[in-house]
Order: sequence, then structure tokens, then C-alpha cells
Amino acid sequence: MIGRMGCLFCKIIAREIPSEILAENEHALAFRDINPVAPTHVLVIPKKHLAGLSDAAPEDGGALGEVLLLARAVAAKELSQGYRLVINNGADAGQSVFHLHVHVLGGRPLAWPPG
Ligand code: AMP
Repeated sequence: MIGRMGCLFCKIIAREIPSEILAENEHALAFRDINPVAPTHVLVIPKKHLAGLSDAAPEDGGALGEVLLLARAVAAKELSQGYRLVINNGADAGQSVFHLHVHVLGGRPLAWPPG
């Protein structure tokens, strides 16, 4: 079993709760963020439940690579003017869903440094 009981994003992977899925590969899924903070705001997640990046182990390297490649594919389709990938790791960094996810943000100028 890859899914984790009670995990919102595991339920999205299992299609137990609806989401706007844009793309997937063997190890990763991309879907639109329900509360977008930019014109394009997509989340890309590993299908394996990892609570955060700090829980990833060397054997997760392949899946993490697929997450980045799927983010790249989504961005190539929707974002011609540049984009940003963000991983919030831990509550102090703003993580609110404890299933590792990469935010793909673009479609407007993005300030630096982030807040
Ligand atoms: P973070 O704060 O980095 O943990 O990001 C969690 C993200 O998940 C937020 O941007 C939320 O808007 C998003 N989110 C929460 N619930 C859902 C959902 N059901 N479908 C899509 N995105 C969601």
C-alpha cells in the first residue's frame, strides 16, 4: 500500500476526493491547487506517501526525479514566461498538508525573496 490513511493528497491520488488532475506518470501526479496564489498554481506530488522532503530517503530519488520532470512538463505546457517551484518543508516554512508537494507557480511576476 502506498497511501496513508487520512492523508488528503493520498485520497486525491486514489481519486477518492475530486481534483483537477493535469498529468501523471508512474510515480507522480500533478493537479491544480484549490486556492491558487498565481494564475498558474499546480501541485506535483509523489504517489508514495512522504510527509515532507525531510522524510525522503536515497531510494526515493527516482520518484523525486519524476516529480520534477512532471513539474517541468506542466510548466512547459502552461508557462512560457518563467516559473518557480516551491517546497514548504515543516510548519514553520508554511507546510499545511503533510504529503510532500512541489508548488509550480507562474503567470505573473514573482517577487524575491519569498516571504
Ligand atoms: P503547503 O501550505 O505548502 O502545505 O501547501 C498546501 C497546498 O495544498 C495549499 O496551497 C492548498 O491550497 C492546497 N490544497 C489543500 N487542499 C487541496 C485540495 N483538496 N485540492 C487541491 N489543493 C489543495
